[in-house]
Amino acid sequence: MRYAEYYRRSIEQPEAFWAEQAVLIDWHRPWDQVLDGSRPPFTRWFVGGETNLCHNAVDRHVLVRGNQPALVWESTEVDQSRIYTYVDLHREVQRMAAVLAGQGVSQGDRVLLYMPMIPEAVFAMLASVRLGAIHVVVFGGSAAASLSTRIDDARPKVVVSSDAGSRAGKIVPYKPLLDEAIERAAHKPPSVVMVDRGLHAFKPVAGRDVDYVKACAQAGDHPVVPCVWVDSTHPSYILYTSGTTGKPKGVQRDTGGYAVALAASMRDIFCGKPGGVYFSTSDIGWVVGHSYIVYGPLLHGMTTLMYEGTSLHPDAGTFWRLVEKHRVNVMFSSPAAIRVLKRYDLEFMRRHDLSSLERLFLAGEPLDEPTLRWAEDALRKPVMDNYWQTETGWPILGIPSGVEALKANPGSPGVAMPGYDVRLLHETTGAPVPVGVNGVVTIRWPLPPGCIQTVWGDDERFVATYWNSVPGQQVYSTSDWGVVDARGYVTILGRADTPGRANDVIYVAGHRLYTRNLEESLSSHPAVAEVAVVGVADAVKGQAVVAFVVPRDLARTGDAGWRTGLEADLKQTVQAQLCAAARPERVYFVGRLPRTQSGKLLRRSIQALCEHRDPGDLTTLEDPLALTHIRDALAQQGEQATTAG
Ligand code: ATP
Ligand code: MG
Repeated sequence: MRYAEYYRRSIEQPEAFWAEQAVLIDWHRPWDQVLDGSRPPFTRWFVGGETNLCHNAVDRHVLVRGNQPALVWESTEVDQSRIYTYVDLHREVQRMAAVLAGQGVSQGDRVLLYMPMIPEAVFAMLASVRLGAIHVVVFGGSAAASLSTRIDDARPKVVVSSDAGSRAGKIVPYKPLLDEAIERAAHKPPSVVMVDRGLHAFKPVAGRDVDYVKACAQAGDHPVVPCVWVDSTHPSYILYTSGTTGKPKGVQRDTGGYAVALAASMRDIFCGKPGGVYFSTSDIGWVVGHSYIVYGPLLHGMTTLMYEGTSLHPDAGTFWRLVEKHRVNVMFSSPAAIRVLKRYDLEFMRRHDLSSLERLFLAGEPLDEPTLRWAEDALRKPVMDNYWQTETGWPILGIPSGVEALKANPGSPGVAMPGYDVRLLHETTGAPVPVGVNGVVTIRWPLPPGCIQTVWGDDERFVATYWNSVPGQQVYSTSDWGVVDARGYVTILGRADTPGRANDVIYVAGHRLYTRNLEESLSSHPAVAEVAVVGVADAVKGQAVVAFVVPRDLARTGDAGWRTGLEADLKQTVQAQLCAAARPERVYFVGRLPRTQSGKLLRRSIQALCEHRDPGDLTTLEDPLALTHIRDALAQQGEQATTAG
């Protein structure tokens, strides 16, 4: 089929279009109305319908594919692997559900997970929606302060946690962080279910902490815990945005719309086949983990591969070893992960049989062309960018390969996905911008199924944050800048969160520059492995362009002469490729860049350090040392950098 027609129908006749997709899932009771749009900007999908996410992800597959692996778990941290068939998963989820129900969990209650990447985390998510409860996954290892604000916002009845996680072979105790978070929080969760991995000894809190294994034993070997049929619009989970740009917001997701949208995305975008194997390298703490480690693959009857470990431990071939071992068909990772692997010998990949792999999907931040090219050349498979947000739950932009094999356009994640009426608007007038002109990426109401219902407990904040940016128009603002070409391919330029002080847009003497263009220009230099560009307050020009570069050859960074030469060369490259205003004021050389654990560059923090401000909430920082690198570079190289100007 032609995608253009398919897409047009999704926009012009959303109710007919989504009613057709809704057959992808089981309904206990059919809906009365596909879309209730009586209270814009809110949307209610499949009103009157009753279903259950866990039934659709697990139970309904037991009869047809009971002996097929549903969840495969691999850990290079503790050197273990486990395989759960759909029958096994069905049993484990009911055991967890029995334990949660035993702690008083029922429909509408929140269950907060503070868990490492272990199968019990998936059991707890599925068990929670099985009971009609609402799960709240907080990234395992998050600092006590941010965990406690989430506890207070979500007010969970039960917390499910574990003694410890592990990262690159180093134990990260969770229990002390959890105890401290509960101590700080005003809301005291009545019970904490502890999955003890035996990694880090802890003292249970009497009357509150429950041992998972003991509680399971009480529940019996095969407890039968039926799915609670809930309204399609009943919340399935709350997920706090990763907080790259400030105060966390609880993104609330529905049940039926989410299930339908994910199932359709598995077919149309990810081209997964029921019975096939899906491997997402994300974490259950992020939206990619919710949608494409847990729900998407299971709804679609695939085997999902869950991985505890990093891409470099024990070596740079880890991902590819897993692809070979489990005959992975569809893989989902991030540009940041690929950029890291790019620094290592291709042999780490080439020595593995990757013939099962059909496509690699990358999302989370802009996919620069050198990284895309490297991955495609190395893998000899299609590598597809896709763009979305915690708020939307599934891709806004991508290549709908399952509908029509549209050609990808390097630099752009692709075209609007079904149901997303994407419009690029002028940031102050709200007028549509012409092809080739930068604008704010917005989506016209109604958002398709699966997207944010509201901000948990705060409808006003939902409206104010997302829907009030363009006066007089009912549009959702993504807060990202983009540009569209004549064929509808959108390129994302960066964040537009705070006009004027946005960390992805730099204003130099009246010119508006995008970090993405600057970074791409610098990355095109063969000596550059990674780069971050920020705008730093400048009394004369408003802002100055400052670049932090990780050189390919780290060993030479100590050589001041080499540094000076390269710095001059890099400034010249940018000036020649972009314009004189874009020429970096300073180039600093560092060993690594600060990223969140989801792989996103923390430009905001780098900018803050450059301006002698507090770098902010760093709880999700992948490697706290990376900020020290920035600090040191600022302190040590400041002098030389200016002389090279
Ligand atoms: P917060 O909203 O709390 O600041 P966050 O926006 O980093 O956190 P996510 O929802 O995980 O958290 O990230 C979505 C954002 O990531 C998008 O709005 C966009 O800025 C960026 N992004 C995601 N995928 C892509 C992509 N394929 N290309 C370019 N940018 C992307
Ligand atoms: Mg965001």
